[in-house]
Amino acid sequence: MAMRHSVVLDVKRCRGCTTCIKCCPTEAIRVRGRRATILPDRCIDCGSCIRICPHKAIKSVGDSLDILNNYQYCVALPEPALYGQFHHLDSVDIVLSALLKIGFHKVYEVAKAAELISDYERQTITSGVSKATPQISSSCPTVLRLIRMRFPKLIGHVANTILPMELAAILARREAEQETGLPPEKIGVFAIVPCSSKVTAARSPEGLEHPVLDGAFAIRDIYLRLLTPMKELEEVLPLSEAGIMGIGWATCGGESAARLGQRCASVDGIQNVIQMLEGIEDGRLPEADFLELSACTQGCVGGCFNVENPYAAKLRLKGLMKGLPVSRNRFRLPEEERDVVCRDKELQYLPAFVLDQDRGVAFSKLLQIQELEEHLPGLHCGSCGAPSCRAFAEDVVLGRASEDDCIFKVRERMRSMTGSKAEADDYLPPPFRRRQEPDK
Ligand code: SF4
Ligand code: SF4
Repeated sequence: MAMRHSVVLDVKRCRGCTTCIKCCPTEAIRVRGRRATILPDRCIDCGSCIRICPHKAIKSVGDSLDILNNYQYCVALPEPALYGQFHHLDSVDIVLSALLKIGFHKVYEVAKAAELISDYERQTITSGVSKATPQISSSCPTVLRLIRMRFPKLIGHVANTILPMELAAILARREAEQETGLPPEKIGVFAIVPCSSKVTAARSPEGLEHPVLDGAFAIRDIYLRLLTPMKELEEVLPLSEAGIMGIGWATCGGESAARLGQRCASVDGIQNVIQMLEGIEDGRLPEADFLELSACTQGCVGGCFNVENPYAAKLRLKGLMKGLPVSRNRFRLPEEERDVVCRDKELQYLPAFVLDQDRGVAFSKLLQIQELEEHLPGLHCGSCGAPSCRAFAEDVVLGRASEDDCIFKVRERMRSMTGSKAEADDYLPPPFRRRQEPDK
């Protein structure tokens, strides 16, 4: 089934300026006919294009809060990044109590599930279960899709645990069923997430056969609804069940800190993550046993659904964590139930760059691409609507573009038709024209 992405283009706003094409880490954007297109097989929902588009033509949408009406009992799973969005917040309990005033019947913190995963991971480390080193965190769905698409050789390095929001959904649903006696279909479980990638992951999980969430709401949508109830709360309920370790997962370095003493490296920002993965693929291994990789700057607090600047949110979370216990959760499930924390399907290579299903045809297309690329200028100017000359050559061979979309190819044709070099050069935009040397 095709993945339903949460990053979408607002066609009316797009002016075809091409600013977005070069920022995409998987070369998923093309601009043709004054309009951008996102190739769905290539998008990893990183949000880079949302941040860079000067016309706000690319956006990410969470699920509509109207879906709460489809369920008799609704559970909110707030990601810890939510807590960093509010000025002068004294206690996480204020946010959790207010969630019960806006349509949810129960809250289950994703930070609690994160603590359970950290505890599970620590037990696995001490029990000596062998894994490829360095082990790569499985907590950022964008990084998971990036590895599956661009770095398939590194799939064996990825930790086998599911996302904290997924574990929270499984455990919260169990609790809700026991507490209410309702059948599962009457219970809706919804994550409140900091980024587009987690909305897509809620619909199409990377490591689970079936979705365990009924939807995912953007932090910015819930934030606005929470402001008034938070001010008007008559009673603040003691609902929080997470400590420093769980809440710390909201920022880059938090998951590593919860590994207690393991040699960990934390990398944030999609380009830095790519650099690190390229290094490992080339055999330049970091001196670390565990790599925490976050696509967003500063980790989840940097996701495009947040309201607050990531650095300010990080500072607030630090303040909130003062006085909290290190952790409030140990993974106490009996041995036979512990698999709940692990993926139930292996991560698979995503063949988004495969040229054809038939290997012979694919090889012939590859040769055609290389041949055409050799005759392109290698300026990667983007005026053809592709991010690089290589991507343009691929588009031509795959029938997504015509050779005439390259202004240098058109200049060649003009030269051969008119025989005039100067006239053909005038056709090019100023940066690519031959420099006129002043007469001496
Ligand atoms: S940056 Fe991309 S999406 Fe935004 S207006 Fe320009 S071409 Fe369109
Ligand atoms: S969200 Fe990321 S991967 Fe998807 S089109 Fe935008 S920049 Fe490319």
